[in-house]
Amino acid sequence: MAKRDFYEVLGVSRGASAEEIKKAYRGKAKELHPDRNQDNPQAEAQFKEVNEAYDVLKDGDKKAAYDRYGHAAFEGGMGGGGPRGPYGQGADFSSAFSDVFEDLFGDFMGGRGGPGGGGGRSRATRGSDLRYNMRVTLEEAFKGAQKTITVPGSAACGACNGTGAEGGAEPQTCPTCSGLGKVRAQNGFFTVERTCPTCGGQGQVVKNPCRVCHGSGRIEKERTLSVNIPAGVETGTRIRLAGEGEAGMRGGPSGDLYIFIEVREHAIFQRDGVNLFCRVPVSMVSAALGGEVEVPTIDGGRSKVKVPVGSQSGRQMRLRGKGMPALRGGGIGDMVIELAVETPVNLTARQKELLDEFQRIQAENNPEGASFFQKVKSFWDGMKG
Ligand SMILES: [Zn+2]
Ligand SMILES: [Zn+2]
Repeated sequence: MAKRDFYEVLGVSRGASAEEIKKAYRGKAKELHPDRNQDNPQAEAQFKEVNEAYDVLKDGDKKAAYDRYGHAAFEGGMGGGGPRGPYGQGADFSSAFSDVFEDLFGDFMGGRGGPGGGGGRSRATRGSDLRYNMRVTLEEAFKGAQKTITVPGSAACGACNGTGAEGGAEPQTCPTCSGLGKVRAQNGFFTVERTCPTCGGQGQVVKNPCRVCHGSGRIEKERTLSVNIPAGVETGTRIRLAGEGEAGMRGGPSGDLYIFIEVREHAIFQRDGVNLFCRVPVSMVSAALGGEVEVPTIDGGRSKVKVPVGSQSGRQMRLRGKGMPALRGGGIGDMVIELAVETPVNLTARQKELLDEFQRIQAENNPEGASFFQKVKSFWDGMKG
């Protein structure tokens, strides 16, 4: 229910004197008094209304505030329906007002600009930044990629050009605050300021809200963007797309869109900065006699790697320039390969026979474990001193 004008409630003109107001109040109060109107909720409500109106209009300061700002001058403290006396709101109205006063004063002290500070014009607000998580493969991180993404979010409403007013009409200067965005109240020795309740501090109001965006000036909209992923990105790399974040408010600039990269694990390669690591199986025979293995490379090709005679499992070799590119130039890393000597399984009878013979010759020259025990003995000798 919209609050009625206090003068109207008492049935007096705006220019009425204190005496006239008092007289009008007494007449109404008598007429509507609960003692005379038992079980008449309408009269009870009107009685409260009259008391509330008189409470403001009988008091010079409150009346002055009301004359200038209407009900807005007391907003926040009223209408909450707190505990009320049986005959209206005498006592608790004043306490409500002092709450409002503190609120106003708090705002004022909070540095929103003192009296005469001006400057409360409609403020354009920058849109929020957005974060988009993107997973890429190691191959994409190697070569770079062009990705298309769909970004949910809001954009300036096309129907009203983001103004929020039907047909793109310019918003009007707020009649309550004349565009200042705040209102002032004289209160005793203090002049206090608060955010204008009509326009919420923007200084402008929209007469006919846009039907598409309901006056907000923004609409929910998915956007499709083409994103260039540069070669060399890593997990944690952030790509900033300036101005692709949320649309700004009231003509403010858009926020930025940040793409957070996550590079997926690779089945073959492990990455360490610009270097790649790869474990390559090599047969026991190649490891012993020397040979060559083929290894896959991140560019999709293959490289031949020489296996030196007598290679042990875990031996590492470096392929220069077969790693990842550095994100901001600065060359390409290496690929480190590690040999994993494989013990043959599922031997045929013939293979077994050959290995048995190999074993016999080996035992004659170098009994199994001999070199190990030699090591242990020299360790103990060293301990003795
Ligand atoms: Zn206003
Ligand atoms: Zn609109």
